[in-house]
Amino acid sequence: MSTLPLLEFDLPPSSDQEVWAAALELARERAGQPTFESWLRDLQPLSWLDGALTVGAPSEFKRAWVEKKYSSLLAQCVEAAYGSPLSLTFVVSEGPAPKKTPAAAGRSVFVPRSVPAAAPRMAAGVPDEVLFDTVPLNDRYTFDTFVVGACNRLAQAGAMASAQRPGSAFNPLFLYGGAGLGKTHLMHAVGHAAKAGNPGCRVAYISGETFTTQYVTAIRERNMDDFRRRFRAADIWLVDDIQFIADKERTEEEFFHTFNALRDTGKQIVLSSDRAPKDLRLDDRLRSRFEAGLIADIRPPELETRIAILQQKALEEGSAIPDDVLLYMADLIQSNIRVLEGALIKLLAYASITSSPITQQLAGDVLGSYFSRHKEEGKPVTAEDVKRLVADAFGVKVEEINGTSRTRPIVLARQVSMHLVRELTGASLPEIGRAFGGKDHSTVVHSCQKIRALLKNDLELAQRCAELMGQLKRPA
Ligand code: ADP
Ligand code: MG
Repeated sequence: MSTLPLLEFDLPPSSDQEVWAAALELARERAGQPTFESWLRDLQPLSWLDGALTVGAPSEFKRAWVEKKYSSLLAQCVEAAYGSPLSLTFVVSEGPAPKKTPAAAGRSVFVPRSVPAAAPRMAAGVPDEVLFDTVPLNDRYTFDTFVVGACNRLAQAGAMASAQRPGSAFNPLFLYGGAGLGKTHLMHAVGHAAKAGNPGCRVAYISGETFTTQYVTAIRERNMDDFRRRFRAADIWLVDDIQFIADKERTEEEFFHTFNALRDTGKQIVLSSDRAPKDLRLDDRLRSRFEAGLIADIRPPELETRIAILQQKALEEGSAIPDDVLLYMADLIQSNIRVLEGALIKLLAYASITSSPITQQLAGDVLGSYFSRHKEEGKPVTAEDVKRLVADAFGVKVEEINGTSRTRPIVLARQVSMHLVRELTGASLPEIGRAFGGKDHSTVVHSCQKIRALLKNDLELAQRCAELMGQLKRPA
């Protein structure tokens, strides 16, 4: 039986999928790649009831072995990812009728990958994004919450048109701009709006990086048919950060075919990148396809827009911030909205913990030292800057970050550093690998994915990263 390599679940997306993915990442790290590949990769969470997780293995042999050798490791990893202990039960999942356990109140239920066809499930109201094994769209990233200014007006208008008239307005829509300026937000907004306008519309969102990893996996597992089918069923294909596929010949080729298949059948494609098509190292055929649509850049927001964004975010947080404080912050942080948002969260948290009124004085105390460097003209951030700062913050040595130790704090510091270098510098994956004592690019990919997964659940780590980023980032 052909199986779709998808992780599907019955109820609307919850963080369960992320928890399992994060747990597996940890297991990969602790058990090592070979063990992971042989025993753990194809385990599947079948049901997730309060306090108990049933994990499916593809055969009785694997089930018995995993239970004997890896159950405690997996339990630890699931606990670390989930935040509290869960009891694990191992069953054989493959077979004609995969066993399903009914949902417990408030928890979602996983269905094994071997569930036959996706189509009937879709009709039953399964969220579309799960069909594509992509990240569910972020509820907060809608057009309503997106502040429009001169810096992003064209991009927003293009995105809106793509959502309202998929495939007929601008195809593809190509958004580009620096980190933290709202590309991902706009792409998710297209997905939400298209589905609001037409509930049957199938939206697939994927990052260029995930596309690349999934492609490599599909080749290794000889699963190209499934890989292709996954994206070609989309009505709207959102590919974020496509700079990651540039320069990778075979991935780019595959992307090209998917792109054409969708484009030729009138499906809407929205792409984002950190630079313009002309600055991407792409095959000319692909570049000219990109240039045939609408190319819209997003520039750093002007002061008024920064203030409006802060107001919007404060509203989302349910807090009112005095105008002078907004002005102070908007002046302090100019180049990256993600950092601006991080600063706001930090200020609100600080005010709430200390029961202080939000004043400019408080903002200065809390944020001034972190962000003062924003105002200085400086050199671009380097991997060395990042490693030094992270080493300091995590109490480890730079040599340890560059080294191969698997001790937890060192691994975390190393992965956070890689993540920040990815976010803040233009370095390619191999360059980052080299800057960390000659590591493989796949290690970098894995580290960044891991941190991103953690950041979604671990508020404290998210805060620390936002602070580190604030300390590192200076205007270009
Ligand atoms: P990018 O993908 O370009 O790196 P993101 O889309 O992830 O940036 O945006 C970073 C953060 O800034 C997100 O939380 C997003 O909601 C917020 N943001 C960016 N631009 C805007 C905007 N114009 N209005 C409201 N929030 C914005
Ligand atoms: Mg993004």
